[in-house]
Amino acid sequence: MIYDVAVIGAGIVGSAIARELAGHQLAVALIEARDDIGDGTSKANTAILHTGFDATPGTLESQLVRRGYQMLSEYASQTGIPVEHTGAILVAWDAEQLDTLPTLQDKAVANGYEKCDIIGADEVYAQIPHLGSGALGGLTVPDESIICTWTVNLALATDAVNRGAALLTGHRVEGIEVSEAHTTIRTSAGPVTARWVINAAGLGSDWLDGLFGHHRFTVTPRRGELIVYDKLARPLVDKIVLPVPTARGKGVLVSPTIYGNVMLGPTSEDLGDRTATGTSEAGLDFLLEKGRTLMPLLLEEEVTATYAGLRAAIDRSDYLIETSPGQRYVLVGGIRSTGLTAGMAIAEYVMGEMVSAGVVLTPAPELPDPPRMPNLGEAFPRPYQQQELIAADPAYGRIVCFCERVTEGEIRDACRSVIPPTGLEGLRRRTRVMNGRCQAFFCGAEVQSLLETAR
Ligand SMILES: Cc1cc2nc3c(=O)[nH]c(=O)nc-3n(C[C@H](O)[C@H](O)[C@H](O)COP(=O)(O)OP(=O)(O)OC[C@H]3O[C@@H](n4cnc5c(N)ncnc54)[C@H](O)[C@@H]3O)c2cc1C
Repeated sequence: MIYDVAVIGAGIVGSAIARELAGHQLAVALIEARDDIGDGTSKANTAILHTGFDATPGTLESQLVRRGYQMLSEYASQTGIPVEHTGAILVAWDAEQLDTLPTLQDKAVANGYEKCDIIGADEVYAQIPHLGSGALGGLTVPDESIICTWTVNLALATDAVNRGAALLTGHRVEGIEVSEAHTTIRTSAGPVTARWVINAAGLGSDWLDGLFGHHRFTVTPRRGELIVYDKLARPLVDKIVLPVPTARGKGVLVSPTIYGNVMLGPTSEDLGDRTATGTSEAGLDFLLEKGRTLMPLLLEEEVTATYAGLRAAIDRSDYLIETSPGQRYVLVGGIRSTGLTAGMAIAEYVMGEMVSAGVVLTPAPELPDPPRMPNLGEAFPRPYQQQELIAADPAYGRIVCFCERVTEGEIRDACRSVIPPTGLEGLRRRTRVMNGRCQAFFCGAEVQSLLETAR
């Protein structure tokens, strides 16, 4: 089998590209080293659907975040990906930051976002009553939203498979041989042959680029650690509380999560190890210190979990998407801290690159409807709350994970889905099971047994 296009990396970006390609008359392979999709950076981020108000105007990132916001918002309503349009307030804590607000407002306008307003301290406290003392003013960003990153990745990959893409998990790419007619991709599970190759390998994208003979950038894993507070903390804050961004990134925020918790983070620390996804004492101490200023009452709440993700930061300040027509190869690199939002727009942009390189993209005559995803959002009806659903299928009335109210019916559905989980972590991302305050202490054995029975 010679695929027309092979996409390497089944995170949000690669899955979005595979989905877009599979909407055309092309044989598409989505190649992933791990045994599940969405197990890299795309599973561990801050899960904010960004408007792009604070991007650097004129960059590709600014353009694609803005477009991605529109595309993902629309796709979320088609597929049931949970989104809450909470809005955000960027808070100024000193005179210098206060002076920056008009510049940030102008920047938002330059990025095509005109809804930011500067508000005084009274208004900030009216909207975020539990904010720590000392805020001097703020900038509103009414469309900044929270979303379920796990469902985004799963919906895009499921859609790609439903459209005919071959999902090749457990295929770690180890070598590349470009010949005149096609490219042979040597993987841990055997060779895959394709005419075009798209590199969407996130943290591994520079190494893979090297296999094509390029040495144009280096990925530095930039760790972001986060603390998740218990659901009882949720009444403290119903908006995203942002700091004034710095050259290092967006800074530490407090945000409600789509699962009904409150989150504090992320840190921003450059590492040498691309596998260091554990949290650290220093990182958590740093967050607690920030939290003490931002929202002291939050620190009195119970912590449910901590986690960390690695941004694929590169030695450039913009996305690096480049096509090598002679090699029939597209690099999608440097998708650092906005790829959840921009993924679908990146896919659209990559299509444009391929067309410019002479690839003929003929839309598929008929496409399946987008998948309808199970709702993991706390603000929307969950199966255990739906009498009619339970009457029709009592498995939706049998709660297995009591912290997160996940039912046997949802676990069964996940195990029978188009891309079933290969382990407990994958099941967690598909259902929220084991994600709550007991962290599987109570339900872990039963969940494991249900997973094994279903397989
Ligand atoms: C702390 C933090 C907070 C963030 N917050 C936000 C946010 O609020 N909003 C937002 O929009 N974005 C946010 N981001 C950014 C966003 O998460 C990323 O930009 C996005 O997930 C990148 O997706 P990806 O598909 O490029 O990478 P990944 O999800 O890492 O996918 C790459 C895939 O490639 C696979 N791969 C690598 N090498 C190989 C190989 N040799 N062979 C086969 N497969 C390979 C990997 O296993 C992986 O699955 C945040 C990131 C972090 C870390």
